[in-house]
Amino acid sequence: MNKTRVVIHGANGRMGKAIHRIAADHPGFDIVALVTRSDPKSRVIDQIPCYSVREIDALPDFDVMIDFSLPEGFDAALAACVKKGRAFVSGTTGLDDAQRESLSAAANHIPVLWASNFSMGVAVLESLVMRAAAALPGWNCDIVESHHTQKKDSPSGTALTLGRAAETGGADVHYASLRAGDIVGEHLVQFTGMGERLELVHRASDRDIFARGALHAAQWLQQRPAGRYAMADSLV
Ligand code: NAD
Repeated sequence: MNKTRVVIHGANGRMGKAIHRIAADHPGFDIVALVTRSDPKSRVIDQIPCYSVREIDALPDFDVMIDFSLPEGFDAALAACVKKGRAFVSGTTGLDDAQRESLSAAANHIPVLWASNFSMGVAVLESLVMRAAAALPGWNCDIVESHHTQKKDSPSGTALTLGRAAETGGADVHYASLRAGDIVGEHLVQFTGMGERLELVHRASDRDIFARGALHAAQWLQQRPAGRYAMADSLV
């Protein structure tokens, strides 16, 4: 089996490190480069060459770039993949409308998979939320998301994705965000009627689930033609 040659963009972050650790132990992946925001402290980590974002055009050839950075790093990562004609997987949240549009434009040239959440549980939750919203017209729909105190964007990308699913089902959605301790990620979607309440909850206790999901998506995506894909596409 050919290994999937991966570049990790945002390699110094919590998610970048988890992806590095898991891919390094997996026979299906070859990490060919790590990309960090500024000049890397070491030019080689675990025998993998490290590049700064300024050096992104000098990357060795790869099959898929996996980006878990911040919105300010996202554009350069996507542009590098379009320029090299290579697949792009991203879990970076807090993107603006122009960045979302650039994902769709890039999908005319390369395979692109962006997901606000790479866990299987949230992929299932999304379809449950859409069904519940459609079945409960007139009920209040509130989404409460909780994350660690370092998280920058709010509401979370996952909350917004779940909110869009509820809106597709016809609900009017309200959001609340909590930032506390080291919570990896919790999403409560609450439908409230008269005298009853339905709660759908997902709790992530380990960010390795996102890393494994992103690596699964990367392996799946490299064999696909140019286009825009979702996590659910890779699970069927
Ligand atoms: P983090 O803050 O630990 O790491 C972010 C990394 O991006 C850092 O190493 C930082 O140096 C780097 N970075 C920042 N600006 C950059 C730039 N201009 N160019 C290149 N790199 C840059 O954050 P994290 O917890 O690893 O999360 C990263 C992103 O992934 C966030 O947007 C977060 O919301 C998202 N996330 C998504 C999922 C998912 O399943 N989709 C899961 C967890 C986190």
